[in-house]
Amino acid sequence: MKIGFIGLGNMGLPMALNLLKAGHQVLGFDLVKTQLDAFAAAGGLVAPDAATAAKDVEVLISMLPASKHVEGLYLGQTGLLASTNSNTLLIDCSTISPKVAQAVAAKARAAGFAMIDAPVSGGTAGAQAGTLTFIVGGDAKAVERARPLLGAMGKNIFHAGASGAGQTVKVCNNMLLGIQMLGTSEALRLGIANGMDPKVLSDIMAKSSGRNWALELYNPCPGVMENAPASKGYAGGFGVDLMLKDLGLAAENADALDANIPLGKLAQALYAAHSKAGNGQLDFSSVFHLKKVN
Ligand code: NAD
Repeated sequence: MKIGFIGLGNMGLPMALNLLKAGHQVLGFDLVKTQLDAFAAAGGLVAPDAATAAKDVEVLISMLPASKHVEGLYLGQTGLLASTNSNTLLIDCSTISPKVAQAVAAKARAAGFAMIDAPVSGGTAGAQAGTLTFIVGGDAKAVERARPLLGAMGKNIFHAGASGAGQTVKVCNNMLLGIQMLGTSEALRLGIANGMDPKVLSDIMAKSSGRNWALELYNPCPGVMENAPASKGYAGGFGVDLMLKDLGLAAENADALDANIPLGKLAQALYAAHSKAGNGQLDFSSVFHLKKVN
């Protein structure tokens, strides 16, 4: 297949490389030159701009930071909906507001496009290994069209419901993840303050009722897990500011629907304090080092 891929960052680059490995022709674009160079070095074709990456491709995938980037890419006079062939299937894998995903997909539909929201879970390790979970919202026919391609980048593909449903599930999941990482960090800090070896503590809790994904697969304490961002200076991975963005989406969504999420809002405040202290670009598990608040 001929595929356009826009946004070759921590997630997009390894995802696009897996499409190349599966034998597809991939035309990539990013605003950052180092990302384009890495893509070209691995055999990808680099487009000079987004419109060229989207021209005459069967499928266009976007993997951008936030809602405003996705709106900017697709909408408006210079947006891709105005310049791309409507036979192209549009797949947005970014994590954005469910409302914005619904609005962009509705405008795409009105312009004759099929579009799905397909945010992912599984982190940069999952993106590299091609084992991501895709949580998809949109029309069943479009989801089936996308399925073989998503299968080249992921292991689990869930059709959550209509347009925006993928983003709703993703926002709920990431709010839980953000809370879980804070709780895991607190338990580890308390054990360490008591003189416990964090590895021994982690091994025991991982086989007890406190077990969870952050503890078992993404341990926030340096040295416990060789491949976790915590053991690599919290570089790469899933940034504090991206987690903060997702908690903001959860808070905005909850306020609009009068849903009660006190822990989600507390988590938002704690990641905000951690980001303000200069850690926004570090992996979110660096919240293990959150300075004492109050
Ligand atoms: P990133 O910041 O590393 O990458 C985003 C890329 O998009 C950057 O390289 C940036 O230059 C590029 N970009 C921005 N605007 C652009 C435009 N108009 N045209 C072309 N390129 C543009 O972010 P990431 O970690 O790859 O995350 C991407 C999305 O995936 C986010 O919505 C994030 O919440 C979500 N996500 C990330 C992870 C993770 O572990 N990093 C996991 C699941 C979901």
